[in-house]
Amino acid sequence: ATFTELGLITPLLARLAELEYHQPTPIQARAIPSVFAGRDLIAGANTGSGKTATFALPMLQKLREDISSGSKNSKGNFVTGLVLVPTRELAKQVADSIKSYAVHFNGEIKTLAVFGGVSVNIQMLALRGGVDILVATPGRLLDLISSNAIKLDKVKTLVLDEADRMLSLGFTEELTALLALTPKKKQTLLFSATFPEQVTTLTQELLNNPIEIQL
Ligand code: AMP
Repeated sequence: ATFTELGLITPLLARLAELEYHQPTPIQARAIPSVFAGRDLIAGANTGSGKTATFALPMLQKLREDISSGSKNSKGNFVTGLVLVPTRELAKQVADSIKSYAVHFNGEIKTLAVFGGVSVNIQMLALRGGVDILVATPGRLLDLISSNAIKLDKVKTLVLDEADRMLSLGFTEELTALLALTPKKKQTLLFSATFPEQVTTLTQELLNNPIEIQL
């Protein structure tokens, strides 16, 4: 398949051409149509597979469509796109990728990374400007929720990236608390390199009739 055949819109296709992504990676080709169809997803995917674009491109396209139809509202302290990641390095990297894919959207879609180890005040200020896609480590996100800087009750798409690392780093309790704050009706996309019991349990509790892709 080509990116055009996957149904991506021009501003994204133009960006992928600039980035010299000549064709979708296997996970992109297999998962993007299901993500567009609104299905939950479990993907066994390592770094290097192209997993970031697998969730980022459909998320951006759906937000763009919401803008066109006038139904997007990013004012207020809520997000519709939430990406949970295990480490600050990954948070920055994923947010940078999303921002890069969105360069032809004229600043209409705001992406922010929040993570521990740095001042919370700057992140609170940034959130006040309105954010569409938030990339977060679990502990810092809970802190920001406690301070009323952000709410998760309007999340439409939830991504768990590197779920196995998130759980092995001891974020199980934080994750449980965060997931309880998201709406029941949402799309959930889970990416994990390995599937130990903890991850399998999480997928069973969290995902609704998911498509499963093992590379
Ligand atoms: P990821 O697995 O998301 O960390 O992506 C690994 C690397 O592959 C990143 O540097 C991406 O920019 C790159 N990449 C993702 N999708 C493609 C593609 N379809 N063609 C070429 N490079 C890609």
